[in-house]
Amino acid sequence: MDQYRVFGNPIKQSRSPIIHQSFAQQTQQQLNYQSEYVALDLFEQTIITFMQSGAKGANITAPFKEQAMALCDQLTERAQLAGAVNTLTFVDGEILGDNTDGEGLVQDLLNHKILLKNSRILLLGAGGAAKGVILPLLAQAPQKIIIANRTVSKAEQLIKKFNNNKLTAAGFDDLGEEKFDLIINATSASLTGKIPPISTALVANTDCYDMVYGKELSPFLAWAKINGATKVIDGLGMLVEQAAESFRIWRNVFPVTAQVLNRLRQED
Ligand code: NDP
Repeated sequence: MDQYRVFGNPIKQSRSPIIHQSFAQQTQQQLNYQSEYVALDLFEQTIITFMQSGAKGANITAPFKEQAMALCDQLTERAQLAGAVNTLTFVDGEILGDNTDGEGLVQDLLNHKILLKNSRILLLGAGGAAKGVILPLLAQAPQKIIIANRTVSKAEQLIKKFNNNKLTAAGFDDLGEEKFDLIINATSASLTGKIPPISTALVANTDCYDMVYGKELSPFLAWAKINGATKVIDGLGMLVEQAAESFRIWRNVFPVTAQVLNRLRQED
């Protein structure tokens, strides 16, 4: 049976095995997908050993996405620009690297009927998750994307790297009350119960997305809802959609994501 794994540290929380096993069942693919904890200094040798065992591919999660990129023999453009890899495919002893996070986000936004073409997008955060979604968002032809980050220099570095006139860097204080159609929280602030310091006027009548997901609405989404956001959407759909894109790369078949997402929501 074809072997796949997700590697991370920590990894206990990962829902990728449930998602991929559901996809496999649904599409009648013979594969085995497990999660594996990797000690911080053993990433490279763990991946090489797994590949040499005859495995077909792997997902990589925090904190190894940058290290995974360095291991690859070939990279897609979106992985290269993201500076991080979450999907490895092993072919004839070579490692092909891709990043499906951005595609996952875009697909989830489209599933929620959020129009991206000509839209004004505010992207909060300039870490790995933000980097990974910029190219797929640009591919949807938005009017503009403002990248706002606590450490402004990181947002500025991103702008330089992408070199696209639809992108602007900002600090949270620079945003004022400018109007956006969509605000995406790609900071990890919600994980510590915090909200990026932006004005309530920004979220009123605006669709708000948080890449973080959980049983309860994240602090950012709860705050946005109280302050008049139109739609509030968490990142569980992005997780399922990025997995579906990895599955498509490996198996060349598109799984149906809605039923898997429903199952995860029920288990929450
Ligand atoms: P990184 O550590 O690379 O980046 C963290 C970002 O959050 C930085 O921009 C940092 O700003 C900002 N930040 C952290 N704390 C605060 C705060 N209190 N106020 C404002 N900004 C803050 O993390 P990632 O980019 O990899 O991940 C970000 C989030 O996205 C995580 O919560 C992760 O779980 C989620 N994620 C979800 C996915 C999904 O499939 N749903 C996929 C990938 C990620 P600064 O630069 O100033 O430090």
